[in-house]
Amino acid sequence: MPQISRRHIMGATALGAAHWSLGDLSASATLGGGLALGTFRFDVTPPLGHPCCGGWISPVKSVEDPLEGLGIVLVGAGKPVVLCVVDWTGILNGAHLAWREALAQAAGTTPERVLVHCVHQHDAPFACLETQKILAAQEGLAGTLWPDFNQRVISRAQGALALAVQAAEPVTRMARGSARVERVASNRRMDRDATGKVKSMRGSACKDERLIAMPEGTIDPELKTIAFFSGARRLACLHTYATHPMSHYGQGKVSSDFAGLARKRVQAADPGCLHLYLTGCAGNLAAGKYNDGTPRARAELTDRLAAAMTRSLATLLPGAVGQFDFRSVEIRPGINAGLVAERLREQIANRKGTLAGRSRPGFELAWLERLSRGQPIVLGALQLGDLCLLSLPGECFVEYQLQAQKIAPNRFVATAAYGDGGPWYIPTRQEYPCGGYEVSVAFCQPGVEELLTGGIRKLLL
Ligand SMILES: [Zn+2]
Repeated sequence: MPQISRRHIMGATALGAAHWSLGDLSASATLGGGLALGTFRFDVTPPLGHPCCGGWISPVKSVEDPLEGLGIVLVGAGKPVVLCVVDWTGILNGAHLAWREALAQAAGTTPERVLVHCVHQHDAPFACLETQKILAAQEGLAGTLWPDFNQRVISRAQGALALAVQAAEPVTRMARGSARVERVASNRRMDRDATGKVKSMRGSACKDERLIAMPEGTIDPELKTIAFFSGARRLACLHTYATHPMSHYGQGKVSSDFAGLARKRVQAADPGCLHLYLTGCAGNLAAGKYNDGTPRARAELTDRLAAAMTRSLATLLPGAVGQFDFRSVEIRPGINAGLVAERLREQIANRKGTLAGRSRPGFELAWLERLSRGQPIVLGALQLGDLCLLSLPGECFVEYQLQAQKIAPNRFVATAAYGDGGPWYIPTRQEYPCGGYEVSVAFCQPGVEELLTGGIRKLLL
């Protein structure tokens, strides 16, 4: 069993400072060194009436296709490492910690070795226990999460994960693949005035010809795949791509939307292997240029994303496993100066306010409370030789994943964002003065860029 070392690089714990606790600089296991992989899946479909996307759109009225939680567990290289991705809008703050702790317990590992991500569909639960508590005290608000349902899903995940640990199979080879995704992602922040300020957003769906005609803008067009093999057999594939995953939403019709539907199609064609889809740094990206919000557009986006996944799989070239390394880093970003607890409480209590205008401050207040009790954001990197899965929080702008690839140019860096959703949007420092919707719901100070990029460097270098 490899040695696990725990090392504190820098010990500052004050808010706004970085606290690097490099979980494991560690755990090297090589080909033939006992690395094994188990897969698990469980249902996360919300019941009828459950709030969707924070409670400001229609609650669940029907289920078009079920929502899934999917995961892998790697054993035999230090304590197990778990990666789990859920078809929900987000899992935030205390709920994110609760998920990681529960999965850690089921796998016999520690919470920093558990990566929990969401795909970020919107007709889906947005899980924040603190926000739920805040909103439940208010008349007229739907709340955001049924805690009993959340607990049932966690128990289901634990059961599936415990079995996966038992059934883990040796990993003998790894492979990487990639494919360019055609006509799906586009940048939302293209419409600017002469000073660079964002005038209007090209959202997930767009019918404005002027905005549609604008270029795609800065995106990452590559879908990346990391595959685990046991002999000639594929055990699991991790696909990453950066875009908001919504085609249309808001009517209470639960769906895994085009990203989930594409994943399910690829999964159906390859039942012996578990296919996971992870949304990359998509804070400023969506399908708006290519999506008019109709059911037909959902089908087209599904086709294009599934085609890219299939092309990426066709490029897989199996190689050696390489050295296994798992690292985690904690950061403690400062609070956006615009967030003042007293004002947020007033907005939440204002019965004349809109549902969104009363619910969103609940998430902001939850973020303040979470930071004041000292819960850090945990970044992670799972590395196997020159292949890396980078795990980031919230709605990071795409520039972060482009930067991550530049930091480690000789490695294959596939990035999953939408880990801990507590901070909501994470713009780059340069984008804060440009305003727009994303900046208006960015809960961190602009200094989050340096913390996040510094953390990514610690993980990758
Ligand atoms: Zn979003």
